[in-house]
Amino acid sequence: MSLFGCIEAGGTKFVCGIGTSPDDLELSTFPTSTPQQTLAQVLSFFRERESQVSAVGVASFGPVDLRPDSPTFGFITSTPKPGWQQFDLAGEVARGLDVPVGFDTDVNAAAAGEARWGAGRGIANFIYLTVGTGIGGGAIVNGEVIHGMLHPEMGHIRIPHDLAKDRYPGHCPFHGDCLEGLAAGPALQERWGKPAHELPDDHPIWKLEAHYLALGLANWVCSLSPQRMILGGGVMEHLDLFPMMRTELKELLNGYIQAKPVLDEIDEYVVPPELGKRAGVLGAMVLAEHVYRNPSAAIAAPLAGEDQWRSTVRS
Ligand code: ZN
Repeated sequence: MSLFGCIEAGGTKFVCGIGTSPDDLELSTFPTSTPQQTLAQVLSFFRERESQVSAVGVASFGPVDLRPDSPTFGFITSTPKPGWQQFDLAGEVARGLDVPVGFDTDVNAAAAGEARWGAGRGIANFIYLTVGTGIGGGAIVNGEVIHGMLHPEMGHIRIPHDLAKDRYPGHCPFHGDCLEGLAAGPALQERWGKPAHELPDDHPIWKLEAHYLALGLANWVCSLSPQRMILGGGVMEHLDLFPMMRTELKELLNGYIQAKPVLDEIDEYVVPPELGKRAGVLGAMVLAEHVYRNPSAAIAAPLAGEDQWRSTVRS
């Protein structure tokens, strides 16, 4: 059986894994530092293992370049994270480990992971949303992850912002009060001076948070008609958000969407990920398996003439 490598590349931490399924996944986590230092840690995680992986999947924070015909395919592109702009993450992993690499956004990968082993099993159309340091979403449509022009940026949709109820201007450097600007973890912390997980259950922030997220969900119900919506990430660990969001979503849709999941089965319609915190890294395993079976989709292993480059990385 082929062994797959998986990398969940996050802005604050990297999760590396090796295995064949959720049952035998071996994980290691370390903080994200400079690209060079972080890459060296990633490569040594895989090189220290006795068994060679057949392929690696990389689920990356973004924005990333996912256009296979682009010279910067596999790069992290315009991130505000210092040092990581225009970094060839997938290419460096492919050259460093001599294996084909599959590459996608962290949320697209998490959606693929949930489709394979989690709450998206057997569902042809669903969305996966993460609410944490940022907000991002991946959509599965007719069984395939949507890429489109680049990749969806669901966190940056514009939603109504009632300044009389919430005077916080939002923290998104591009849009101010887009959904991410109002409802991601840093917005909660800035409003109240404490990280989300330290705020008590009866704090008014949760009602406001459920309100903003339900506005996002209502937009995706109307634009993508998903059969399920899966929400993960650090902020969603506050599970009381789920019943509040479901109630508010029904109110927002106001009987217009005449579908059983919304009308009668809302508890199964808006749900946490079954894979929990491992959705992203297991999604990377799905990417690895995909390129193993479809080599044309891979970011290639090194070409001749790159040996010198490799010796630099390895030293
Ligand atoms: Zn934004």
